[in-house]
Formats: sequence, C-alpha cells, structure tokens
Amino acid sequence: MKSFSLMIHGGAGATANKPEVLKAIKSVLTKGTAELKAGASALDAVEYCVSLLEDDPQFNAGRGAALNAKGEVDLDAAIMNGDRLQAGAIAGVQGIKNPVELARAVLDNSPHVFLIGKGAMEFARTQDVATKPPEYFITQKRKDQWEAAKTNAKIVLDHSDYDEIKKKYGTVGAVALDQDGNLAAATSTGGIVGKQFGRVSDTSLIGAGTYAENGLCAISCTGVGEQFIRTVLAKHAADIMRFQQTDAQATADAAIKYLVETVKGLGGLILVDAAGNCAKAYSTPGLVWGSAGSGKTLTVGLN
Ligand code: ASP
Repeated sequence: MKSFSLMIHGGAGATANKPEVLKAIKSVLTKGTAELKAGASALDAVEYCVSLLEDDPQFNAGRGAALNAKGEVDLDAAIMNGDRLQAGAIAGVQGIKNPVELARAVLDNSPHVFLIGKGAMEFARTQDVATKPPEYFITQKRKDQWEAAKTNAKIVLDHSDYDEIKKKYGTVGAVALDQDGNLAAATSTGGIVGKQFGRVSDTSLIGAGTYAENGLCAISCTGVGEQFIRTVLAKHAADIMRFQQTDAQATADAAIKYLVETVKGLGGLILVDAAGNCAKAYSTPGLVWGSAGSGKTLTVGLN
C-alpha cells in the first residue's frame, strides 16, 4: 500500500474544551481514512468528509449553518482536484443538504467552475443532490446567535473588527493525499453570522479559501472571509511552497504571518503536501482540527 494522508478542520476560533466537537472530528477522520486506505481518490475522500461535517449541526456548514441578516441559511462550498487543477464551487444556495456535493457536481458535470444563487439552484435541479426544507438547516443555537448579532451592529458591519470570531468555530474543510499521489481540498460554510444577503465567502472562492495542486499541496482555510479573499490566501500559501521550497509547516506559518501582517487577519488553514505531511497554522485563539493517514497516529485538537 502506498501512503495517504487526511486532515480536516471544523473552523477557527474556539479554545474551550468541546468533547462533542472533537468526537465528531475523530469519527469523520476515521471514516475518511478508511476510504483512502481502501483506495478512494483524494477528491472523493474530501467530499465525503466535508459532507459528513455538513450533516453535523455542531458545525457552521450544511445543517446548523450560521444565519444571514435575513435570518436565512445561505450556503457556500468549493472543491478542488490537484490533478489538472479541476475545481467546482457554489455560493448563495438554499435548501441543498450537502453543498459540497453540488460543488462536486459543478466540477464533474458543468463547463464552469463557479455557480451562484439562482443559477446554482437551477443547476442543482438537474443533478442528483438531496434537498431539505429551511427548518432542517436552522438550529436554536443559530437563532440565538442571530438575535445576539442583530443587537450588535458591529458584527454585521465591520468584520475586520469582529470580536465574535475569537469565540466561534464551525466552517469545515478537508485536505487529502491519496495512494496515487493526487491532492484535493474541499471547504464548506454558512459564512459569517448576520452577513448581508448576497455576500460571498472565501470558502467558495478557489485560491482564497480552497486550493489544491498535485506535486505541491492542498489547502483549506477558515476565518474572516473578507481577509482571505483580499490576500488570496490559499493560493498565496501554495506559491510560498512553490517559489521558496518551504516544507508543509513553514508554508502554513508563512501564509498566516502574511495574513496577519497585511490585513491583521483572523483565521487559520490546514495543509497536506505531496509527501503527505500535514500542517496547520492560525491567528485565532484556536482551530478545530484533526489529522491521520498511513503510518500516522490519528490526532485531533482545538489548538
Ligand atoms: N471563512 C468563512 C467565511 O468567511 C467563515 C469561517 O471560516 O468561519 O464565510
């Protein structure tokens, strides 16, 4: 058997001990590595892991996602195959049970990379993706968070000074190396609490929150999306590795250093390189993460 690696995240922000969150991360990692061990592609493995995390209401993706300013759930996701830089992404979709599956359908079945809003929903109706009614997505925790956000306009208007992110977590992502040496990344989010209707996340933007390139690395980001878009952070990290020949950890550290120095950015990233080395870095107090793979001990953590 050739080597394989898997790393997942459940968002940047929290440091408080969250046994249920770590249990979920461990379970998804266990299932994802079983697939990779059995010969699944990195692309299938990251889609699978992210869809499991989307189904878990503890995370800000799919079921249990953060609410926009109208109190609705708008979902964004992206997936990228490091083999020939194939990518699919969707933003501003409603009622799609697993947004990452719709992003994958864009990658597989559309001549385009990125579909949004009504167009993405129209495309979804031609694809084999499950839908759910609004009440499936909205949890009491998110309703309470939304009420609190409404009384604090700062959260809605000024993400660059967004204190709440220091406490939050939830966007999900996965990066993998399969036994054939292919890299892939996927990320999914409900976005920032109280976001304006129509706002697009870094998560769904190839190069900002999600990037994979065979021979180099696969990256999934989490944090204040506006800052990751302005710094094109995932591609920036890959280019650090490409041009400076940095190892996985030095790449992750340099990218987050750039995020902080240029835009005082809040967030983090996970990365797996072409040799299967895993790394993480973040500027928030914590990051929910886990890593596993052939010859590796399954490890999960909050920082
Ligand atoms: N990056 C996501 C967004 O801006 C949020 C997050 O990672 O928690 O929508």
